[in-house]
Amino acid sequence: MKIARIETFLVPPRWLFCRVETDTGLVGWGEPVVEGRAEVVRTAVEVLAEYLLGEDPLRVEQHWQVLTKGGFYRGGPVLSSAVAGLDQALWDIAGQAYGVPVHALLGGPVRDRVRIYSWVGGDEPGEIADAAAAQVAAGLTGLKMNACGQLSPIPTPAEIDAVVARVAAARAVLGDERDIALDFHGRAGLAAVRRILPELAPLRPFFVEEPLLPDQAHHLRDVVTCSPVPVATGERLYGRSEFLAPLQAGVSVVQPDLSHAGGISEVRRIAALAETYGALLAPHCPLGPIALAASLQVAFATPNFLIQEQSIGIHYHAGSELLDYLVDPEPFRFVDGHILRFDRPGLGITIDEAAVRRAGESPHAWRNPVWRHPDGSFAEW
Ligand SMILES: [Mg+2]
Repeated sequence: MKIARIETFLVPPRWLFCRVETDTGLVGWGEPVVEGRAEVVRTAVEVLAEYLLGEDPLRVEQHWQVLTKGGFYRGGPVLSSAVAGLDQALWDIAGQAYGVPVHALLGGPVRDRVRIYSWVGGDEPGEIADAAAAQVAAGLTGLKMNACGQLSPIPTPAEIDAVVARVAAARAVLGDERDIALDFHGRAGLAAVRRILPELAPLRPFFVEEPLLPDQAHHLRDVVTCSPVPVATGERLYGRSEFLAPLQAGVSVVQPDLSHAGGISEVRRIAALAETYGALLAPHCPLGPIALAASLQVAFATPNFLIQEQSIGIHYHAGSELLDYLVDPEPFRFVDGHILRFDRPGLGITIDEAAVRRAGESPHAWRNPVWRHPDGSFAEW
């Protein structure tokens, strides 16, 4: 079996899919994307395809090695995400070729269902409470929300009180049996985090995510020691070596993205590295159905897995939806806040190829917002 054709599709809301076809007719799908830089990753996939065409798709690890290292320069979001999507597609093909789900190739399942969380949007405490109540009614046991919007470098007491009020509104709805995680999105600095986290601690967040930008990992130990709230990070880290410093700093949760951090092959290794530090895996996934399927295959087979992000029905994807690209949404059906293990071959989903080709005919050009402080200077989004 040889790889015969590699295609890419820029599909709304902001994703890039790749389709890898073999000369025997097997097709694997992957999701190589950096949100806001999808066209750049598409070009990287096209360059990497020069090597893959004509190769045996079943040599997944060999191809991962060549794709990540064979160009001399390595790492970074664009290359690591391009490799990630191709890696997902190769695992998809391997599973189908052997007639087993990917998690069987990873050593077999260690769990029967995967706990998932949903996002709650809203700016005011009342909006947060309403959104949280809707998710509780849908059976979710874990939610995540932005801890803050745009934040002053050293937040005022009023800004801090607003953050605490929003989280308190969610906690009041959730009670003590459900979890609320908080995403700082790298919007806070060390000074802000050290002020805010001790005040949030009584509300017992599940974890706080990206309390600092990834390039400030040298401060993570200070964040870990300033409050008992578990610290999570990793959606903007691209390989196992980049997770070492956060783990040494004492983070509790690592969040590699299956579409950014080298795919299934590398995220499995990141999970094993995290296990040696007693840290848990919660893959980042605000992406499409292929990235979610790849995340779930890892979750089914990884002992130190914690919880899975997913974006089905998320507030900021109005107009196009993860399930639109599937022939059958059944694998992603929620049961009591979980997704049950599914055992179809490969990644276990059937992509609606006609829908993907149709969507790809009007490629998106999604860009993230650029925020400014009141004085006009750049602010982290
Ligand atoms: Mg995040």
